[in-house]
Amino acid sequence: MSNEYDVLIIGGGPAGLAAGLYAGRSMLKTRLFEKELIGGQASITDIIENYPGFPEGITGFELAEKMREQAQKFDVELDMNEVTSVDLIGALKKVTTPDGEYTAKAIIIASGVRPTKLDVPGAAALTGRGISYCATCDGPFFRDKRVMVIGGGNSAVEEAIYLTKFASKVTIVHRRDQLRAEKIVQDRAFKNEKVDFLLDSVLSGVSGENSVSAVTVKNVKTGEEKEVGVEGIFVFVGNIPNTELFTGALDMDEVGYVITDDALMASIPGIFAAGDVRKNNLKQVVWAAAEGALAAVSAEKFIETQG
Ligand code: NAP
Repeated sequence: MSNEYDVLIIGGGPAGLAAGLYAGRSMLKTRLFEKELIGGQASITDIIENYPGFPEGITGFELAEKMREQAQKFDVELDMNEVTSVDLIGALKKVTTPDGEYTAKAIIIASGVRPTKLDVPGAAALTGRGISYCATCDGPFFRDKRVMVIGGGNSAVEEAIYLTKFASKVTIVHRRDQLRAEKIVQDRAFKNEKVDFLLDSVLSGVSGENSVSAVTVKNVKTGEEKEVGVEGIFVFVGNIPNTELFTGALDMDEVGYVITDDALMASIPGIFAAGDVRKNNLKQVVWAAAEGALAAVSAEKFIETQG
Protein backbone atom coordinates (compact mmCIF):
# COMPACT_ATOMS: atom_id res chain seq x y z
CA MET A 1 0.00 0.00 0.00
CA SER A 2 1.20 3.51 -0.75
CA ASN A 3 2.67 5.46 2.13
CA GLU A 4 1.47 8.77 0.69
CA TYR A 5 -1.27 10.48 2.67
CA ASP A 6 -3.15 13.73 2.70
CA VAL A 7 -2.91 14.09 6.48
CA LEU A 8 -0.77 12.42 9.12
CA ILE A 9 -1.83 12.86 12.74
CA ILE A 10 0.64 12.41 15.58
CA GLY A 11 -1.20 11.42 18.76
CA GLY A 12 -4.40 9.51 19.47
CA GLY A 13 -5.97 11.49 22.32
CA PRO A 14 -9.22 13.45 21.95
CA ALA A 15 -7.55 16.09 19.72
CA GLY A 16 -5.98 13.54 17.38
CA LEU A 17 -9.10 11.36 17.20
CA ALA A 18 -11.37 14.35 16.49
CA ALA A 19 -8.91 15.55 13.84
CA GLY A 20 -9.03 12.05 12.35
CA LEU A 21 -12.82 12.02 12.33
CA TYR A 22 -12.99 15.38 10.53
CA ALA A 23 -10.19 14.60 8.08
CA GLY A 24 -11.53 11.14 7.30
CA ARG A 25 -15.08 12.40 6.84
CA SER A 26 -13.70 15.02 4.41
CA MET A 27 -12.37 12.11 2.34
CA LEU A 28 -8.74 12.95 3.10
CA LYS A 29 -6.48 9.95 3.21
CA THR A 30 -5.49 9.98 6.87
CA ARG A 31 -3.21 7.97 9.14
CA LEU A 32 -2.96 8.49 12.89
CA PHE A 33 0.03 7.39 14.99
CA GLU A 34 -0.29 6.61 18.69
CA LYS A 35 2.63 5.15 20.63
CA GLU A 36 0.86 4.14 23.81
CA LEU A 37 -2.77 4.62 24.65
CA ILE A 38 -5.71 5.54 22.46
CA GLY A 39 -7.45 8.38 24.28
CA GLY A 40 -4.22 9.64 25.84
CA GLN A 41 -4.43 11.19 29.29
CA ALA A 42 -8.24 11.32 29.04
CA SER A 43 -8.47 7.55 28.78
CA ILE A 44 -6.97 7.10 32.25
CA THR A 45 -9.49 9.48 33.83
CA ASP A 46 -12.16 7.76 35.90
CA ILE A 47 -15.31 9.76 35.12
CA ILE A 48 -15.51 12.70 32.71
CA GLU A 49 -18.60 14.64 33.69
CA ASN A 50 -18.10 17.81 31.66
CA TYR A 51 -18.06 16.43 28.11
CA PRO A 52 -21.39 17.49 26.54
CA GLY A 53 -23.80 14.74 25.58
CA PHE A 54 -23.15 12.46 28.54
CA PRO A 55 -25.26 13.82 31.41
CA GLU A 56 -24.46 10.85 33.63
CA GLY A 57 -20.72 11.25 32.91
CA ILE A 58 -18.66 8.74 30.99
CA THR A 59 -15.40 6.98 31.82
CA GLY A 60 -12.40 8.31 29.96
CA PHE A 61 -11.81 4.83 28.57
CA GLU A 62 -15.35 4.57 27.12
CA LEU A 63 -15.21 8.06 25.63
CA ALA A 64 -11.86 7.30 24.00
CA GLU A 65 -13.24 4.05 22.56
CA LYS A 66 -16.23 5.87 21.08
CA MET A 67 -13.95 8.50 19.55
CA ARG A 68 -11.70 5.81 18.10
CA GLU A 69 -14.68 3.94 16.64
CA GLN A 70 -16.07 7.11 15.07
CA ALA A 71 -12.72 8.05 13.49
CA GLN A 72 -12.24 4.54 12.10
CA LYS A 73 -15.78 4.60 10.68
CA PHE A 74 -14.43 7.27 8.32
CA ASP A 75 -11.44 5.17 7.29
CA VAL A 76 -8.74 6.73 9.43
CA GLU A 77 -5.86 4.27 9.60
CA LEU A 78 -4.71 3.74 13.18
CA ASP A 79 -1.03 2.93 13.55
CA MET A 80 0.04 1.96 17.08
CA ASN A 81 3.62 3.06 16.66
CA GLU A 82 5.94 5.71 17.99
CA VAL A 83 6.94 8.48 15.62
CA THR A 84 10.72 8.62 15.86
CA SER A 85 11.46 11.53 13.52
CA VAL A 86 9.76 14.09 11.34
CA ASP A 87 10.74 16.23 8.40
CA LEU A 88 8.38 19.19 8.35
CA ILE A 89 9.89 21.27 5.55
CA GLY A 90 8.78 21.09 1.93
CA ALA A 91 5.52 20.33 0.18
CA LEU A 92 5.57 16.69 1.26
CA LYS A 93 6.17 16.29 4.97
CA LYS A 94 7.68 13.06 6.29
CA VAL A 95 6.99 10.99 9.40
CA THR A 96 9.16 8.02 10.35
CA THR A 97 8.28 5.16 12.72
CA PRO A 98 10.22 1.94 13.40
CA ASP A 99 8.00 0.30 10.74
CA GLY A 100 8.14 2.77 7.89
CA GLU A 101 8.21 6.21 6.34
CA TYR A 102 5.06 8.12 5.48
CA THR A 103 4.54 11.36 3.58
CA ALA A 104 1.65 13.83 3.65
CA LYS A 105 0.64 17.26 2.52
CA ALA A 106 -0.22 18.24 6.09
CA ILE A 107 0.64 17.05 9.60
CA ILE A 108 -1.48 17.56 12.69
CA ILE A 109 0.47 17.43 15.94
CA ALA A 110 -1.76 16.20 18.74
CA SER A 111 0.90 14.56 20.87
CA GLY A 112 -0.47 15.87 24.17
CA VAL A 113 1.35 16.04 27.47
CA ARG A 114 2.84 13.65 29.99
CA PRO A 115 2.85 13.92 33.78
CA THR A 116 5.66 15.76 35.53
CA LYS A 117 7.61 13.26 37.64
CA LEU A 118 8.02 13.47 41.40
CA ASP A 119 11.52 14.82 41.94
CA VAL A 120 12.45 14.03 45.55
CA PRO A 121 15.10 11.72 47.05
CA GLY A 122 14.02 8.08 46.93
CA ALA A 123 11.26 8.60 44.37
CA ALA A 124 12.96 7.33 41.22
CA ALA A 125 13.68 3.90 42.70
CA LEU A 126 10.12 3.47 43.97
CA THR A 127 8.23 4.46 40.80
CA GLY A 128 5.90 1.57 40.05
CA ARG A 129 6.50 0.27 43.59
CA GLY A 130 3.99 2.48 45.34
CA ILE A 131 4.50 5.67 43.33
CA SER A 132 1.97 6.04 40.54
CA TYR A 133 0.80 8.60 38.00
CA CYS A 134 -2.50 6.87 37.23
CA ALA A 135 -5.22 6.36 39.84
CA THR A 136 -7.53 4.35 37.57
CA CYS A 137 -4.65 1.99 36.65
CA ASP A 138 -3.22 1.46 40.14
CA GLY A 139 -5.92 2.49 42.64
CA PRO A 140 -7.26 -1.07 43.11
CA PHE A 141 -3.83 -2.17 44.45
CA PHE A 142 -4.33 0.09 47.47
CA ARG A 143 -7.47 -1.42 48.98
CA ASP A 144 -7.65 -0.51 52.71
CA LYS A 145 -4.27 1.18 52.55
CA ARG A 146 -3.26 4.75 53.27
CA VAL A 147 -2.25 6.77 50.23
CA MET A 148 -1.12 10.31 49.49
CA VAL A 149 -1.96 12.44 46.50
CA ILE A 150 0.49 15.16 45.57
CA GLY A 151 -0.83 18.33 43.88
CA GLY A 152 -3.79 20.66 44.22
CA GLY A 153 -5.16 20.87 40.67
CA ASN A 154 -8.23 19.19 39.16
CA SER A 155 -6.36 15.97 38.47
CA ALA A 156 -5.06 15.64 42.03
CA VAL A 157 -8.33 16.39 43.75
CA GLU A 158 -10.55 14.37 41.39
CA GLU A 159 -8.25 11.37 41.49
CA ALA A 160 -8.01 11.65 45.31
CA ILE A 161 -11.79 11.34 45.49
CA TYR A 162 -11.66 8.36 43.12
CA LEU A 163 -9.02 6.68 45.31
CA THR A 164 -11.36 6.75 48.33
CA LYS A 165 -13.17 3.84 46.64
CA PHE A 166 -10.20 1.70 47.61
CA ALA A 167 -7.92 3.36 50.13
CA SER A 168 -8.64 3.63 53.86
CA LYS A 169 -7.43 7.24 53.88
CA VAL A 170 -6.31 9.66 51.17
CA THR A 171 -4.14 12.63 52.17
CA ILE A 172 -3.77 15.45 49.66
CA VAL A 173 -0.39 17.16 49.99
CA HIS A 174 -0.36 20.59 48.37
CA ARG A 175 2.39 23.20 48.35
CA ARG A 176 0.08 26.19 48.99
CA ASP A 177 -2.80 26.85 51.39
CA GLN A 178 -5.34 27.10 48.52
CA LEU A 179 -6.20 24.33 46.09
CA ARG A 180 -6.13 25.10 42.38
CA ALA A 181 -8.96 22.67 41.49
CA GLU A 182 -12.42 23.96 40.49
CA LYS A 183 -14.68 24.79 43.43
CA ILE A 184 -17.19 22.00 42.71
CA VAL A 185 -14.33 19.49 42.84
CA GLN A 186 -12.85 21.00 46.02
CA ASP A 187 -16.23 20.88 47.78
CA ARG A 188 -16.57 17.17 47.05
CA ALA A 189 -13.16 16.53 48.54
CA PHE A 190 -13.89 18.63 51.65
CA LYS A 191 -17.08 16.62 52.22
CA ASN A 192 -15.41 13.23 51.76
CA GLU A 193 -14.59 11.75 55.18
CA LYS A 194 -11.74 9.68 53.80
CA VAL A 195 -9.89 12.74 52.42
CA ASP A 196 -7.66 14.93 54.55
CA PHE A 197 -5.14 17.62 53.67
CA LEU A 198 -1.58 18.63 54.39
CA LEU A 199 -1.43 22.16 53.00
CA ASP A 200 1.61 24.40 52.64
CA SER A 201 3.49 21.12 52.38
CA VAL A 202 5.76 19.26 49.99
CA LEU A 203 7.38 15.84 50.05
CA SER A 204 11.06 16.00 50.89
CA GLY A 205 11.74 12.27 50.75
CA VAL A 206 10.22 8.87 50.04
CA SER A 207 11.39 5.68 51.73
CA GLY A 208 10.76 1.94 51.60
CA GLU A 209 12.69 -1.25 50.93
CA ASN A 210 10.88 -2.84 47.98
CA SER A 211 7.87 -0.57 48.01
CA VAL A 212 6.86 2.76 49.54
CA SER A 213 6.41 2.61 53.32
CA ALA A 214 6.81 6.25 54.40
CA VAL A 215 7.32 9.80 53.22
CA THR A 216 8.86 12.88 54.77
CA VAL A 217 6.56 15.87 54.53
CA LYS A 218 7.95 19.37 54.92
CA ASN A 219 5.87 22.39 55.88
CA VAL A 220 7.10 25.12 53.55
CA LYS A 221 6.12 27.92 55.96
CA THR A 222 7.62 26.57 59.20
CA GLY A 223 10.31 24.33 57.71
CA GLU A 224 9.15 21.55 60.04
CA GLU A 225 9.52 17.99 58.71
CA LYS A 226 7.65 14.87 59.78
CA GLU A 227 7.57 11.26 58.67
CA VAL A 228 4.20 9.80 57.69
CA GLY A 229 3.55 6.11 56.98
CA VAL A 230 1.89 5.56 53.57
CA GLU A 231 1.88 2.73 51.05
CA GLY A 232 0.89 4.62 47.94
CA ILE A 233 1.78 8.01 46.44
CA PHE A 234 -0.18 9.33 43.48
CA VAL A 235 1.47 12.28 41.77
CA PHE A 236 -0.43 14.99 39.84
CA VAL A 237 1.87 17.99 39.79
CA GLY A 238 1.19 19.18 36.26
CA ASN A 239 2.31 18.14 32.81
CA ILE A 240 5.05 18.52 30.20
CA PRO A 241 4.21 18.87 26.49
CA ASN A 242 5.37 16.03 24.22
CA THR A 243 7.17 18.24 21.72
CA GLU A 244 10.79 17.04 21.77
CA LEU A 245 10.44 15.83 18.15
CA PHE A 246 9.78 19.39 17.04
CA THR A 247 12.31 21.28 19.14
CA GLY A 248 14.16 23.82 17.05
CA ALA A 249 11.83 23.33 14.09
CA LEU A 250 8.62 24.95 15.34
CA ASP A 251 7.94 28.06 17.40
CA MET A 252 7.13 27.09 20.98
CA ASP A 253 6.70 28.93 24.26
CA GLU A 254 9.29 28.69 27.04
CA VAL A 255 7.74 25.46 28.37
CA GLY A 256 7.55 23.76 24.97
CA TYR A 257 3.89 24.22 23.98
CA VAL A 258 3.47 24.70 20.20
CA ILE A 259 2.47 28.21 19.14
CA THR A 260 -0.06 28.45 16.29
CA ASP A 261 -2.19 31.02 14.53
CA ASP A 262 -6.00 31.15 14.83
CA ALA A 263 -6.37 28.38 12.24
CA LEU A 264 -4.05 26.26 14.44
CA MET A 265 -1.24 26.38 11.88
CA ALA A 266 2.21 26.27 13.47
CA SER A 267 5.22 28.26 12.29
CA ILE A 268 5.76 25.99 9.26
CA PRO A 269 3.03 25.97 6.56
CA GLY A 270 1.08 22.72 6.52
CA ILE A 271 1.92 21.84 10.13
CA PHE A 272 -0.96 22.18 12.59
CA ALA A 273 -1.22 21.60 16.34
CA ALA A 274 -4.28 20.77 18.42
CA GLY A 275 -5.20 20.00 22.02
CA ASP A 276 -3.07 19.96 25.14
CA VAL A 277 0.21 20.15 23.18
CA ARG A 278 -0.76 23.59 21.87
CA LYS A 279 -0.26 26.83 23.75
CA ASN A 280 -3.90 27.54 24.63
CA ASN A 281 -6.06 28.63 27.53
CA LEU A 282 -8.11 25.54 28.30
CA LYS A 283 -6.90 22.01 28.96
CA GLN A 284 -10.19 20.12 28.67
CA VAL A 285 -11.34 17.16 26.59
CA VAL A 286 -14.09 19.19 24.91
CA TRP A 287 -11.59 21.85 23.91
CA ALA A 288 -9.02 19.35 22.68
CA ALA A 289 -11.68 17.68 20.52
CA ALA A 290 -12.79 21.04 19.14
CA GLU A 291 -9.21 21.99 18.31
CA GLY A 292 -8.76 18.64 16.55
CA ALA A 293 -11.78 19.44 14.39
CA LEU A 294 -10.47 22.93 13.57
CA ALA A 295 -6.98 21.64 12.77
CA ALA A 296 -8.43 19.11 10.31
CA VAL A 297 -10.61 21.71 8.60
CA SER A 298 -7.63 24.07 8.37
CA ALA A 299 -5.45 21.26 7.00
CA GLU A 300 -8.06 20.54 4.34
CA LYS A 301 -8.14 24.22 3.31
CA PHE A 302 -4.34 24.32 3.25
CA ILE A 303 -4.18 21.23 1.00
CA GLU A 304 -6.74 22.78 -1.38
CA THR A 305 -4.65 25.94 -1.71
CA GLN A 306 -1.57 23.86 -2.59
CA GLY A 307 -3.35 22.51 -5.67
P1 NAP B 1 -2.39 21.67 37.07
O1 NAP B 1 -3.75 22.28 36.98
O2 NAP B 1 -1.26 22.33 36.42
O3 NAP B 1 -2.09 21.47 38.63
C1 NAP B 1 -0.85 21.00 39.05
C2 NAP B 1 -0.80 21.06 40.56
O4 NAP B 1 0.48 20.59 40.99
C3 NAP B 1 -0.97 22.48 41.11
O5 NAP B 1 -1.76 22.45 42.28
C4 NAP B 1 0.47 22.89 41.43
O6 NAP B 1 0.56 23.75 42.53
C5 NAP B 1 1.10 21.56 41.81
N1 NAP B 1 2.52 21.53 41.52
C6 NAP B 1 3.16 21.88 40.38
N2 NAP B 1 4.49 21.68 40.50
C7 NAP B 1 4.68 21.21 41.75
C8 NAP B 1 5.82 20.82 42.46
N3 NAP B 1 7.05 20.87 41.91
N4 NAP B 1 5.66 20.38 43.73
C9 NAP B 1 4.44 20.33 44.30
N5 NAP B 1 3.32 20.66 43.66
C10 NAP B 1 3.45 21.10 42.40
O7 NAP B 1 -2.38 20.15 36.49
P2 NAP B 1 -3.56 19.07 36.40
O8 NAP B 1 -4.36 19.01 37.66
O9 NAP B 1 -2.91 17.83 35.88
O10 NAP B 1 -4.50 19.64 35.27
C11 NAP B 1 -3.96 19.97 33.98
C12 NAP B 1 -5.04 20.69 33.18
O11 NAP B 1 -6.10 19.78 32.89
C13 NAP B 1 -5.67 21.84 33.97
O12 NAP B 1 -5.95 22.87 33.09
C14 NAP B 1 -6.93 21.24 34.53
O13 NAP B 1 -7.95 22.18 34.78
C15 NAP B 1 -7.31 20.25 33.43
N6 NAP B 1 -8.11 19.16 34.00
C16 NAP B 1 -9.45 19.33 34.03
C17 NAP B 1 -10.24 18.35 34.59
C18 NAP B 1 -11.73 18.57 34.63
O14 NAP B 1 -12.22 19.48 34.01
N7 NAP B 1 -12.50 17.79 35.31
C19 NAP B 1 -9.68 17.21 35.14
C20 NAP B 1 -8.29 17.08 35.12
C21 NAP B 1 -7.51 18.07 34.55
P3 NAP B 1 0.05 25.29 42.43
O15 NAP B 1 -1.44 25.22 42.52
O16 NAP B 1 0.70 25.92 43.62
O17 NAP B 1 0.57 25.82 41.14
